[in-house]
Amino acid sequence: ERTSEPQLLSSGNARDLIDSVEAFLFDCDGVIWKGEKLVDGVVDTLEMLRSKGKKLVFVTNNSSKSRRQYAKKFYSLGISVSEDEIFSSSFAAAMFLKVNNFSPEKKVYVIGEAGIMEELQLAGFTGLGGPEDAKKTADLYLDCAIEHDKSVGAVVVGIDRHINYYKLQYATLCIRENPGCLFIATNRDAVGHFTESQETPGAGCMVAAVGGSSEKEPILVGKPSTFMMDFLLKKFEFGCSKMCMVGDRLDTDILFGQSTGCKTLLVFSGVTTQSNLQDPSNHIQPDYYTGKVSDLLELSGS
Ligand code: PLP
Ligand code: CA
Repeated sequence: ERTSEPQLLSSGNARDLIDSVEAFLFDCDGVIWKGEKLVDGVVDTLEMLRSKGKKLVFVTNNSSKSRRQYAKKFYSLGISVSEDEIFSSSFAAAMFLKVNNFSPEKKVYVIGEAGIMEELQLAGFTGLGGPEDAKKTADLYLDCAIEHDKSVGAVVVGIDRHINYYKLQYATLCIRENPGCLFIATNRDAVGHFTESQETPGAGCMVAAVGGSSEKEPILVGKPSTFMMDFLLKKFEFGCSKMCMVGDRLDTDILFGQSTGCKTLLVFSGVTTQSNLQDPSNHIQPDYYTGKVSDLLELSGS
């Protein structure tokens, strides 16, 4: 538990922060990029941190892509990152099944996109649904009982821009008819600000839809759940106190960093404003805050 007020990042404390930390964990959207556009100064800042020997890790709640697809995205934006530096909630869903010894004989029904399907496959699991069921239909007033595969042992729900009534019915049948069926949520982000023009519904609404019909609470694997931290820790020989989580969202990134004992740096290049931070109803306070990631470079004079 932190007790002091959040500190504005300054030329006085930026270098100390960098020196005291061995790994930086970066949220992606709103920190590294906004949608398809790189945030100013990110490339030089990451290079500076790498040149100082810092480990860099990228943690995103967006399950639409796999780690391989994210590595391509980083590369296309001029950042070289290896797949094993990327922790996406799509990967987390597959790893949750793995560490819980989910039998590869069972199947996984997906409300989600290609990223989840690919991570499941790479982990040795059979995913059903997802993009394949985009055009299928079901209707509660017509007598159109759908067949569902009885070997489904888990339902994974993430962002799905082609969610439909068929997928909801399929997922609901899997969970309600098999009490042992796992219900896994990649993340519960309420909305995203993926373009400048307006906010759009995030995976939270898909997860809530399945939660509503199944009357079950999902197991969350993305931020702020600490599930991904176990994987991160296996990469490092030091502990969380030597890590700093940099993010734009208080209720996912900063909470994730704090609940795992990392230092936290909030940036205003994404969804949170200075007035959100100072709002009396906000109870999540980062250790540091600043405008954007490249302030680490500018203020530390590195
Ligand atoms: N979920 C979806 C569908 C998104 O598109 C995004 C950002 O683009 C996010 C979640 C949040 O991602 P991050 O954790 O990188 O901010
Ligand atoms: Ca973010």
